[in-house]
Formats: sequence, C-alpha cells, structure tokens
Amino acid sequence: MKKIAILGSTGSIGTQTLDVVRANGDIEVLGISAGKNIQKLEEQVREFSPRLVAVWDENAAQELAQKIQDTDTKVVAGMDGLLELAAMPDTEILVTAIVGMLGIRPTIEAIRAGKDIALANKETLVTAGHLIIPMAKEYGVKILPDSEHSAVFQSLNGEHKEEVHKLLITASGGPFRGKTRKDLESVTLEDTLKHPNWVMGQKITVDSATLVNKGLEVMEARWLFDVSLDQIQVVVQPQSVIHSMVEFKDGGIIAQLGTPDMRLPIQYALYYPHRRYLNGDRLDFAKLGQITFEEPDMDTFLGLPMAIQAAKAGGSMPTVFNAANELAVSKFLHKKIRFLDIYDIIGQSMERHKVIENPGLEEILETESDTYQWIESRW
Ligand code: NDP
Repeated sequence: MKKIAILGSTGSIGTQTLDVVRANGDIEVLGISAGKNIQKLEEQVREFSPRLVAVWDENAAQELAQKIQDTDTKVVAGMDGLLELAAMPDTEILVTAIVGMLGIRPTIEAIRAGKDIALANKETLVTAGHLIIPMAKEYGVKILPDSEHSAVFQSLNGEHKEEVHKLLITASGGPFRGKTRKDLESVTLEDTLKHPNWVMGQKITVDSATLVNKGLEVMEARWLFDVSLDQIQVVVQPQSVIHSMVEFKDGGIIAQLGTPDMRLPIQYALYYPHRRYLNGDRLDFAKLGQITFEEPDMDTFLGLPMAIQAAKAGGSMPTVFNAANELAVSKFLHKKIRFLDIYDIIGQSMERHKVIENPGLEEILETESDTYQWIESRW
C-alpha cells in the first residue's frame, strides 16, 4: 500500500485525489485536511479512516472532534496542525491541494521530513520556488506536478533537459476569451465562475478568467523545469485538449493530450513512473474535428503580462503579485470589487514594492502581510 496525506482534501483537487484512491484500492490515506468544511471532512474520515485530520479553523476543529469521537482519528488545528499532517510518520507522498500561499510552510515541513510532494498548489513555487527546489534536491525528494504542469512533465519524460528549446503552455482563454476591456467592465462574478472546460475551485476559476492562472503557471514552470522565462510561451487552445507541449532543439514537439480530467495528472503523480487504467471519457478525434490555436490577448487580460513582469523583477515581486491577487480575488468573490479592479490592485501593489532579492521564508511571509495591509487600507 502506498501511503499519502492530503492538504486540502475537501477541494476540487483533493476530492479528485480521493476518487483516484477509491478507484485503485492500493493507496492508504493517513491524513486529510481542510480550512473549515467539517461536513465533508467527517464523510472522508468515515470512508478512509485516516490517522490524522487537520482543520485550519480552531472552532471547526473542536466541532469535528466531537462529531468523530467514535473513530480513532485524531483532530489537530491551525498551522501547527497542517505542519503535523505534512510530516506524519509513514506517509510517502504529501498531496498539496490547498489553495494559496498557506501551502508554503507545510510543503517545506514535508520536504524536510523526506516526503515526495504531489504538487497542485501553484502559489508555493511562485513565491518560494528559489527555496523549495534546492531544498527538495538537498533532501532527495521528488516534486511531481499533479496540475496542468503534468503535461510538460509527461512530455519531458525520457528526454534530456539540455535538449529543450521551449515549453508551450496551453490556455483555454477562460470564459471571457474574445472580449474587450470595455466588455470586462460589466462582467459579474457569476459570469466569471462559468469556465468553459474545467470545473475547479473558485479561486483558480477566477484566475483563469483574468489569465493570472496562466501567469502563475509560467512562474511555476520556470522553477519546476529549470528553464528561463524566455523559454516559456503561452498558446491559447480553446478546446483544452492539448494540456501542454515541449519543443526540442531540433524543432520536434511532444504534446500531452486528453479530455479535460484532472484525475489523470493526479494519478500519474501518485503512481509515477507507472500508469494505471483510468475510467472516464476518452478523446475521440473524429468527434472533436479540430484543435485551434490563438495568441493570448495580453492587452486585455493583464494577468499574464503582469505575472511575467513580476517574474522578471524576481526576488519578492512574485510574492506581491500573488498576494495581491489572492486578496483581490477574495474581495471579488465577496462582491466587494469589480472584475477589472483585480488588475488595478495587483498593478498598484507591484508598483509600490521595492524588491527584496533572494527573500527567505520570513521575508516572503512579511511581504505577503505588508501587501495585504496596504490593499486593505485602500480598497
Ligand atoms: P479548492 O478551493 O477547490 O480547494 C481548496 C482546498 O484547500 C480545500 O480543501 C479547502 O478547505 C482548503 N483550504 C482552504 N483554506 C484553507 C486553510 N486556511 N487551511 C487549510 N486548508 C484550507 O481549490 P482547488 O482544488 O481548485 O485548487 C487547489 C490548488 O490546486 C490551488 O493552488 C490551484 O491553483 C491548484 N490547481 C487546481 C486545479 C484544479 O483543477 N482545481 C488545477 C491545477 C492546479 P475548505 O473546503 O474547508 O475550504
């Protein structure tokens, strides 16, 4: 039995990870966690009998402990709880399916404890890639993408890194592809949450509409695959059939294709380097008919150019980009700001920031809280 723990087991990636566990029958889930969704956690405790469940919210943790008194599962709370879960004895893989920068500390804790990381949480590498990647090498642990980057990872399989010319990261273009900046002035939260191809958590769905998500992926790819920013190109491919591609020095391109189903990258990360059968829709090329391509509209969807600007500035700037986006998206989800305000919040936060070169963990977390405070005092 393979032994895993999941950070964010109640979310989109977390529940699909449990679907993979359920379908295969040879993975033991030793730990699960969530922010506050104790109803789902209770169901998961009763189905998977983990040793540990970590709940961020202290009150919710107490309530859950009451509800599952009749089980052998221990409940822990807050950041200490997430850290305990990350470093649990006996787990081999930590699935990081938590949303936001909160994933950084548990990921570091897991690496130090020698766990491989199945990484969905992109904010961790975006803000702390310069710390995480060398640390993973030092502790000899694997970082296996269980997100869109699995497509690049699969395309690179068996190839030498020196032979890579560039990575072609595909984007669906989100729900507002083809719209003008004027159109975006009046889009609502409900419009934004209607992604054409994927069902995902709310934050990443908004990030897909702003193209911030693609920007985060560019920043993450740089750390994950050790390439320069110039070696990464974003291509819009509205059908979401090609999940990404790698172009090699000789002009040859290897792509990973499939129906939009996150269980595939999750399962690939959990069983790497082996593949397992996966139930579900298969790609039917005759039915599909065509796959089309476009340039991303960088004049309208500022999330991507701003991310590239932050990545080029380096140091603490990606943290500002990410933190400003996290807070802006949270305000948008609470209907406190409009869609286009997200860009203003990110842009102005970056403009005022003086880059700290090579920031340590404390400086990253201070930059996050400084960015939050500045935004809260203005919006
Ligand atoms: P969801 O919003 O669906 O799930 C987030 C998970 O994190 C939930 O389990 C949630 O618990 C938990 N969580 C939230 N806040 C806290 C907290 N303070 N402490 C502990 N746990 C917390 O997100 P997704 O699954 O969509 O995304 C997760 C990550 O994966 C993101 O970084 C995203 O960018 C990345 N990703 C997602 C993809 C997708 O298809 N969904 C694709 C590729 C990457 P609760 O339910 O209690 O709120």
